Amino acid sequence: MFLPATPEELRTLGWDRLDVILVTGDSYIDSPYVGVSVIGQWLLRAGYRVGIIAQPDVDSGADITRLGEPVLFWGVTGGCIDSLVANRTASGKRRREDDFTAGGINCRRPDRAVIAYANLIRRHFKATRPIVLGGVEASLRRIAHYDAWSDRVRRSVLIDAKADLLVYGMGERTVLEIAEGLRTGHPVTDVRGLCYLAAEPKAGTLELPSYEEAAADGAAFADMFLGFYRNQDPLTARGLSQRQDARWLIHNPPQPPLSSTEMDAVHGMDFARDVHPHDRRLGRVRALETIRFAIPTHRGCYGECHFCAIAVHEGRTVSSRSEASILREAELITALPDFKGYILDVGGPTANMYGFECAKKLQRGACPDRRCLYPSVCESLRPDHGRQIALLKKLRRVPGVKQAVVASGIRPDLVLADRRQGIPYLREVVRHHTSGQMKLAPEHSEERVLKCMGKPGRETLLPFRDLFRRLTAEAGKEQFLTYYLIAAHPGCTETDMEELRRFASRELAIHPEEVQLFTPTPSTVSTLMYRTERDPFGGKGLFVEKTAAGRERQKKILVAKTGLLRYGMRGSQQTQKEVGSWARTKTSRKKPKRNLPKR
Ligand code: SF4
Repeated sequence: MFLPATPEELRTLGWDRLDVILVTGDSYIDSPYVGVSVIGQWLLRAGYRVGIIAQPDVDSGADITRLGEPVLFWGVTGGCIDSLVANRTASGKRRREDDFTAGGINCRRPDRAVIAYANLIRRHFKATRPIVLGGVEASLRRIAHYDAWSDRVRRSVLIDAKADLLVYGMGERTVLEIAEGLRTGHPVTDVRGLCYLAAEPKAGTLELPSYEEAAADGAAFADMFLGFYRNQDPLTARGLSQRQDARWLIHNPPQPPLSSTEMDAVHGMDFARDVHPHDRRLGRVRALETIRFAIPTHRGCYGECHFCAIAVHEGRTVSSRSEASILREAELITALPDFKGYILDVGGPTANMYGFECAKKLQRGACPDRRCLYPSVCESLRPDHGRQIALLKKLRRVPGVKQAVVASGIRPDLVLADRRQGIPYLREVVRHHTSGQMKLAPEHSEERVLKCMGKPGRETLLPFRDLFRRLTAEAGKEQFLTYYLIAAHPGCTETDMEELRRFASRELAIHPEEVQLFTPTPSTVSTLMYRTERDPFGGKGLFVEKTAAGRERQKKILVAKTGLLRYGMRGSQQTQKEVGSWARTKTSRKKPKRNLPKR
């Protein structure tokens, strides 16, 4: 069922007052892919009366006052995507279209939405209940961060929004503990996954360089960021304190990831899987089309690509749902009136991270000095695609399912590192679970640039490509690979783009028509490189293309006017339009997931 969004719905429910009112920068889609609806339904399940106001008009009180004032708190999110990423291109131009707004026109979400909505609430409700920020925008801007749109280091959004609390990461546990604390009058300052402001640093926390130091000096900014980045594991992180003006931002350690049982409980809630009628009257919401018949199988990502915000928001530990829960959701989808037999995605931030994790990480926390997939797959990870194979086989036997597509990106290195189940998994996907194309995200071809991105190179891409072609030919099918590519990433020069073009043409037989320009999303390692023009791990200086003309030149080097070649049965080639993207992250504008919709 929908959370109530209008006074009429409150009357129908017999509720005279709400405990929590959620405010979001997107149209209200009630879906397990949408953070604000998950949090709302989660609170509702715990017995709280929750309402939602989507995309309130910030120039009047008409929308923000329509559900009254909450008893416990306001929850404010910019939506599934950081509002500046959603509203503006990397060069700052306003986007015209919006997949998360009814009617598809980008005209209803303000820039810096959480600040705008917090101000709106305070304008119309003096001395109101606490304002709690959450979602991707708040999460990525929770400490001092570089903001590319204003080209400066900004304070925590908690300060700029003059809000009371900030929930970061996947917020189910944190938000329940806050609601319980406010209901019972107990302090919430030790709740994990929470940031708040204090007069003093918190005892026992790691003191980061102050906002003023980080804003004035690149080296201090790098120290601050790395102190923050290295303290995000739920088992080992220390709390953090950072002076910002006269106050201290306190960053409590993160919540542990949800167990499989808790994941099942989240995904077993009664989502309407539709746009609320109050918003639907304004037109269709394109994002719904990609998530209505899709199933998230897990959350979190240990890929840690440097330009991606998922590890900072969802964490580096993967939490998977049970097979039974996923199959129940498939059955539920087949009962929807307009379902045509196709589940459009079965996946997560990376499709083939479902069902296995590093035992050491689960017991002692992620390694502070090693990465799970770079420069190669860690021996301790032991990838095992067995559970995914079993799941996919069962999914396609669900009555009413003609096909369940794995549309989320697949990591080739994980497939190749799984000596027992890697090839059977890819065979299964190639034969039964692709829509004709499989998405890969090599992002680049040049070793120096890939090192800056934290991505593996040709040594995994080309064997995987060959394997895909072989299995495709074996299956007698005609399908092809698509490649996400990025231009103007820190460390990338025009020469590197020329090499990438040659590699794409010779080795991949493609001539990309689109490539994404790197966008410095707040609180990523790549954005740290962009800001400091240094490799944060090796300390060496880096070339960073920052001029609009230079960035466009890099893009143009790769983009060809002609279509690309695709490989079909027995290696035959045909022209086919190709799409590349910089952002397979929660900040992707194409498809909310995990990342897509991050919260
Ligand atoms: S042991 Fe390897 S897989 Fe496990 S957390 Fe460390 S780097 Fe990641």
